[in-house]
Amino acid sequence: MNMQINNNIPTIILIVFFSAILVYLVRYGLGYIVRIRKNKSELQEPPLKTVTVVSCINQDYTLEREFREGDFIGKVDGPCPKCNSSTVVERIYVVPLAVRETGRKR
Ligand SMILES: [Zn+2]
Repeated sequence: MNMQINNNIPTIILIVFFSAILVYLVRYGLGYIVRIRKNKSELQEPPLKTVTVVSCINQDYTLEREFREGDFIGKVDGPCPKCNSSTVVERIYVVPLAVRETGRKR
């Protein structure tokens, strides 16, 4: 009787040990799948575009153009095509590019 109990204790420890490993593997596996899904959803986010709004100091001309390196609000950008005064960067903002519906419905 005593021998059997002594033999069962290492077996119980082994079962607990292996179930702990199993739980760890399942959790790790789920975390891995969630991470893959997260990466996929990040890839599906629409690309962003930075837009710079330039306007004439006489308020007769406004231009929206793509952001160029070195653009900042208040930067003097060049002569106004209408009155030849200076134009100034008025706003810089980020907009999502047009979302392609066909790419999402796969
Ligand atoms: Zn002007």
